[in-house]
Amino acid sequence: MANTGASPSEKSMRGTMADQKTPAGKGPEDKIPEDANLADHRAGKVRDADDGLVFPFHKVPHEGSVIEVAQGILWARMPLPWSLDHINVYLFDEGDSWTVIDTGSNGNSGRSAWEALEESTLGGKPISRVIATHMHPDHLGLAGWLTERHKAEFYISQTEYLLANTLWMSASADFPQSELDFLFEAGVDRQYEDMIKSAGFGNYKKGVYQLPTAFHRLEDGSEIMIGGRRWRTVMGRGHSPEHACLMCLDEPLFISGDQVLPQITSNVSVYAREPLANPLSHWLASLERIKQVPGDPLVLPSHGPVFTGLGARVQALIDSHLRKLNTLHAWLEEEERTPVETFPALFRRKITGFDFFMALGEAVAHLHLLESVGLAERRFDGEVNRFSAKGDIASTDIMKAVMTLKGVPLRSLNDFD
Ligand SMILES: [Zn+2]
Repeated sequence: MANTGASPSEKSMRGTMADQKTPAGKGPEDKIPEDANLADHRAGKVRDADDGLVFPFHKVPHEGSVIEVAQGILWARMPLPWSLDHINVYLFDEGDSWTVIDTGSNGNSGRSAWEALEESTLGGKPISRVIATHMHPDHLGLAGWLTERHKAEFYISQTEYLLANTLWMSASADFPQSELDFLFEAGVDRQYEDMIKSAGFGNYKKGVYQLPTAFHRLEDGSEIMIGGRRWRTVMGRGHSPEHACLMCLDEPLFISGDQVLPQITSNVSVYAREPLANPLSHWLASLERIKQVPGDPLVLPSHGPVFTGLGARVQALIDSHLRKLNTLHAWLEEEERTPVETFPALFRRKITGFDFFMALGEAVAHLHLLESVGLAERRFDGEVNRFSAKGDIASTDIMKAVMTLKGVPLRSLNDFD
């Protein structure tokens, strides 16, 4: 899930949107029958000429069952109580125990699903390690519960661990003024103030069991043995601050978390706690680096089916943001706009409810990217930020410009060899 708990309300505000992190299909993907039109559903062993992705398994695991995607690596799904209704978790056979990657969110349905897996699959062996790719509730919501239950060790990057704890502890009935200011300065109408305040602050805690009190740090480039294989940590940034992907050094396998998803795009947002952040620059630089992953690995994503075609998918994600930046620039050439007023340029679908806050964060992220490479400028009138276009986007190599920004480029994967 993309929300980090800073967003206040699911009540309605309206606009239009597309490409938010919600399911692309009509219903749960595990409802796809095996005899369905697999090409249409993109879930069968077919190559889609448009996007270069292959989905080598004809089905997705039902609750309480698993699919072995490589020797000793099991794919399971945990139910989520949101519009994005599942998360993939992966179990690695360690011989006398299991390592699990990601957990699902806290709640009765998630715990029941783990109990069912323990019964059907774990064979009485404990979980010795829980690894979280990042701090969003669907990824580590049950990490504390599982580590308690199995006396397991917890692995995550430092920034994700600290941010998770900060958000968990900062839940409050009082809505921080800085959060309100961020919304109003982005063009949210002040008439919504009471409604926003009434929702309270700190939804993060609702999906997260008390966090493990200690952790082992995953660092960019570090190696870890999982399931008898060597894996290299490849950090991604932009969706969350220090998101761990894992690249197998012994077989063509890549655990992508939310950094690369096959069918939906991950939310990349500016949040009130860092109002001048430029997360889209970090996101694009992270994707650019993932192009260095060798070969054509089997990708184990957090949502949607396991797939091959990593390079094509990464390029499609980059291209989609570049298209949006071009459309946004043209929209700002017409007249200066607040972030809220850029929704028609960025999103095709109608935006309602909670989606509004993800869409706003994403709109600000695209505006900040343009601003950082000299293609937009901001005017703050004391109440609201308005952005207008600058420069000639057609003659600008945005990716090249991004890679020259201070603090944005990442170390080459080749440097870790
Ligand atoms: Zn996430």
